[in-house]
Amino acid sequence: MILILFGPPGAGKGTQGSRIVEACGVPKISTGEIFRDLAAAKTELGLTAKSYWSTGKLVPDEIVVGLVKERIAKADCAKGFILDGFPRTVSQAETFDIMLSQSGNKLDGVIDFEANVDELVRRLSGRRTCDNCGATFHIITLPPKVDGLCDYCGSELIQRNDDNPESIRTRLKEYSSKTEPVINYYVSNGLLHRVDADRLPDVVFNEVLELLKTVNCGASKEALVG
Ligand code: AMP
Repeated sequence: MILILFGPPGAGKGTQGSRIVEACGVPKISTGEIFRDLAAAKTELGLTAKSYWSTGKLVPDEIVVGLVKERIAKADCAKGFILDGFPRTVSQAETFDIMLSQSGNKLDGVIDFEANVDELVRRLSGRRTCDNCGATFHIITLPPKVDGLCDYCGSELIQRNDDNPESIRTRLKEYSSKTEPVINYYVSNGLLHRVDADRLPDVVFNEVLELLKTVNCGASKEALVG
């Protein structure tokens, strides 16, 4: 199964993606997470990318495309993968199509998580992320049991560099000018499924499960029953 999780920052792609991984047993590739890891490791590429993402700007296509190409060639992607945060421009979508056809693969679907701007700003500004396992919390709607610590691994919760008001504004602008046009690209080839992501994560996930039954979700389809 090859699936794209699409939508603005804060729509819940990461949260829903982790649940889809459990149901379908294929890896989730988050380009944002790759960039954060590369920056933490202080690689040259990571620091170059950070100069864009820390202010909310998109990282240039050539950098992103190279990383995705390398990542999806790894053995764990042989049975499929879920992309979270890629493609984010029409040019990335076109290049991804070429990559897939060169490797004899095809895209099964694109889930577009739609949410209103006030809700996105509320989610992003209150979001806290575990520095170790990546679990996410919200200071009001999903607080950790112990203030500042992850419920799952006990590590420190941090606020992402780009979850500040100025970067959030830039990210939403980048989304509407450069990323939203990608929706039409996938509407035109009949692969887009829209989901109302303003609702609670469990409600959204139930709808995602229904959608997954219609795409090629591989061996663990039984996990989708329910
Ligand atoms: P995310 O974790 O998906 O919110 O991504 C964090 C940041 O990484 C984004 O705001 C972008 O600056 C950068 N980024 C992630 N994926 C891409 C992409 N496909 N194209 C360009 N920039 C990206």
